Amino acid sequence: MRIDVVSIFPEYLAPLRLSLLGRAQEDGLLSLAVHDLRDFTFDRHRTVDDTPYGGGAGMVMKPEPWALALERVLEEQLAHDGAGLGPAPRRPVLVVPSPAGEVFTQAMAYELAEQPTLAFACGRYEGIDERVLEWAGEHFDVRPVSLGDYVLNGGEVAVMAMVEAVGRLLPGVVGNPESLVEESHADGLLEYPVYTKPASWRGHDVPDVLLSGNHGKIASWRLEQQLRRTAARRPELLDGADASSYGKSERAV
Ligand code: SAM
Repeated sequence: MRIDVVSIFPEYLAPLRLSLLGRAQEDGLLSLAVHDLRDFTFDRHRTVDDTPYGGGAGMVMKPEPWALALERVLEEQLAHDGAGLGPAPRRPVLVVPSPAGEVFTQAMAYELAEQPTLAFACGRYEGIDERVLEWAGEHFDVRPVSLGDYVLNGGEVAVMAMVEAVGRLLPGVVGNPESLVEESHADGLLEYPVYTKPASWRGHDVPDVLLSGNHGKIASWRLEQQLRRTAARRPELLDGADASSYGKSERAV
């Protein structure tokens, strides 16, 4: 997969070069390009913002640097796809982080992980001039996405979270694919509690069933724990969920 991120703080994205995603890039499983929006300005101050029409607090990101930056991303992504070869070019996905977007979920992470390329546009200030999204819709499949119901200073932290959630689903990125199947949200429930050695620690013991060696009993206990934990912490996840999928992920990894 190729991922392009446009930001006025490209260095913010540096942690995406570390750990599992860093190794994925070294191994050629993922290619990450970070573009500085200010490289697409032409004035001495490299201006990317201006006052809002209609008045109000804060500044709004100007449209033209975004159009130029996204045109560059489009060109590079089409080249990556091998433009001109094979079927008609698809419209690449452009994720625009926004507290006013659709909330990011594990299901969306799986959906985005199917894409050959992804682009992310990190807003700052009061956000990006709305016409950029209208214009971008002519070239991209534009997806405004929220990390959750709170407001961050910029899109970079949201992009880091989304790229990490998507990147770890790419084949070969996580060493043991089984660990993706047994995680929270894989089957609509939160994960069961996990323990390691020693069996007794500061007066707290590992549940006996986990020491029993009985795999059937362990699986039943884990499912029961998943249901209890989900009911206690995130009861809304149980509403309308397909109970037949509990305890097993539908996704073959
Ligand atoms: N005025 C905007 C509003 O109320 O919707 C908030 C702007 S926020 C200060 C600046 C940028 O941070 C946004 O353009 C977006 O890129 C990012 N951002 C803030 N909160 C976010 C969230 N919950 N999810 C994703 N991105 C977020």
